Amino acid sequence: MTDKLSQFLATRPWILADGATGTNLFALGLEHGDAPERWNLEETDKVKAHYRSFIDAGSDLVLTNTFGGTANRLKLHQMQDQVHEINAAAARLLKEAIAESGRDVICAGDVGPTGDLFQPVGPLSFEDGVAAFEAQMKGLKDGGADVLWVETMSSEEEYKAALEAAHRVGLPVVGTMSFDTNGRTMMGVAPKRLAALVHECGHDHAPVAYGGNCGTGAPDLLVGIISAADEIREDDVIVTKANCGIPEYVDGAIRYSGTPELMADYACLARDLGVRIIGGCCGTQPGHVAAMRRALEAVPRGPRPTVEDVIAKLGKTTGSTLDLLSDETAAAPKRGGGRRRRSAG
Ligand SMILES: [Zn+2]
Repeated sequence: MTDKLSQFLATRPWILADGATGTNLFALGLEHGDAPERWNLEETDKVKAHYRSFIDAGSDLVLTNTFGGTANRLKLHQMQDQVHEINAAAARLLKEAIAESGRDVICAGDVGPTGDLFQPVGPLSFEDGVAAFEAQMKGLKDGGADVLWVETMSSEEEYKAALEAAHRVGLPVVGTMSFDTNGRTMMGVAPKRLAALVHECGHDHAPVAYGGNCGTGAPDLLVGIISAADEIREDDVIVTKANCGIPEYVDGAIRYSGTPELMADYACLARDLGVRIIGGCCGTQPGHVAAMRRALEAVPRGPRPTVEDVIAKLGKTTGSTLDLLSDETAAAPKRGGGRRRRSAG
């Protein structure tokens, strides 16, 4: 229990994570189609400014700019030979920003999906998946990451491959899935199934914390956590990193509808549901995170919210609540084949 995340969990009621990476890097000048990971080598001041913005907003845990940092993803930008360099640089820059801030903040090495479908649905073998994650995670570890942060996962096989890689690299790991398809992942995994999957992991492979990120809006994610209540164990550490409202097209760009007040309400509801690590995903800017911190500190812990409480405060869910609350895991993925691309935060 000497790792930094376990220390934080042992001494604090909640941990405030960060917000969006992609949204903020676009605000700093990243162009659509650019690899955000390239900036870890070429625009180090901007990456550090991004990290600093969340550290200063009050995040206790910040993710490295490495969502697409596997060779499978870097290949799209002809950077597949720089996996170690890029990931190590991202973690090193975050460690520097943390040291310069004087705050005690966890450096979480971000790991997103490979973008390739795992066997038997797609071509990627489990062992090749593990190797891809392991190479990325080794770079993150060498750059100084305190913990590995696997997120936006859809498939059980890919989730398990990432856990296996983290085990081989020897760092604690957090693993979240994106329940973006009517309360399931794109591959049909419901929050309750994720909890069961974590409980099936051997002690040495289980993540320190698990939960959901991204997906649709904050109310859907919290209802998803409620739907898993009878599978979640008392000592499980749950994570939610919800999007900042719903994406809207405004003047040709994607904007998120969530206000700082909405994200503050979401943070308090998540805490009252027993979520220990709370953050934002797409659209969540430092101002939102600062509002979340103020609310978590000022608003006393309340009773466990119901689905109705969540909807009353955060608005209607995108999916039907009946679907969100059903614990059935869809039998088959929506659609097989092809490469799925998704941007970080
Ligand atoms: Zn997101």
